[in-house]
Amino acid sequence: MRSPQCNPLKRQGYQFFKDNSSAAVKPCLWCRKALKGNGACYKNQFYGIASHRCVQMTPTLRCTQRCLFCWRSFEHEPVQDTECTPEEIVDAIPVLQKRALSGYKPYATAEQFAEALAPRHVAISLAGEPTCYSRLPELVDLLNAKGYTTFLVSNGTNPDVLAQTSPFQTYVSLCAPDENTYLRLCRPERDSWEQITASLALLGKRRSAVRITLVQGWNDVSPEEYAIKVQESGATYVEVKGYMYLGYSRNRLTVENMPSHARIRTFAEEIVHSSDYRIADENIPSRVVLLERVA
Ligand code: SF4
Repeated sequence: MRSPQCNPLKRQGYQFFKDNSSAAVKPCLWCRKALKGNGACYKNQFYGIASHRCVQMTPTLRCTQRCLFCWRSFEHEPVQDTECTPEEIVDAIPVLQKRALSGYKPYATAEQFAEALAPRHVAISLAGEPTCYSRLPELVDLLNAKGYTTFLVSNGTNPDVLAQTSPFQTYVSLCAPDENTYLRLCRPERDSWEQITASLALLGKRRSAVRITLVQGWNDVSPEEYAIKVQESGATYVEVKGYMYLGYSRNRLTVENMPSHARIRTFAEEIVHSSDYRIADENIPSRVVLLERVA
């Protein structure tokens, strides 16, 4: 039987891999827009990822934090979570993506729809913290072996798991310039500020990105502190993104917490001013500025 916590998520378009598991696929807005010919995700612009061939998924909805800006509902966190095997997940990805996208066939060209049913990219970024899944390194290895481009987004609280995991691009979130702001905004189950620093230290040796989500009035201060951490990480890229007033975060924050693109751009310029990064690109609809390491 499906856990009752999962039913509202199912109504929101989550496709679960199996009963009693919180591993899920949900096509993102940009995948669906791309099939209708209405643009593409900023990852297409920045990294060449074809939005209509990208699967947004998670191996677990469990998480180690309860960030105020998270779009997920903490009420729907799984009480019991039976893990899928990496093989079960990889085998079912095209099946679930097909089921999720079936309603878009009339809007897409035949060629585009056929491509969408044979996805090439997997963004492990839907919701939850993927390092809470006990077989994450094996899952990523299997996806890589199947030829998928893998993007892994982590909150950085489990550096030991991250160190063993080899995605095409690793993201670690840096959501505060200091420990106190981190504790108030991300509300971790235990203080993981040091673990996040350890995760950031892994990034210099791999293709990687630091993800900074700016929440106006909460963490859009001390750009020089972000610059120090970004510089020490040695990450290939930094994405400075604005908080979006979406999903269940609307119960915790207000629309005023969404920074304008101009504010995000200015903040990104201040980070650049104190580090060896340059502004490489930006996407105004997604309110994101891309920084690239130059030294
Ligand atoms: S770490 Fe990610 S999934 Fe977990 S609460 Fe924060 S934003 Fe949500």
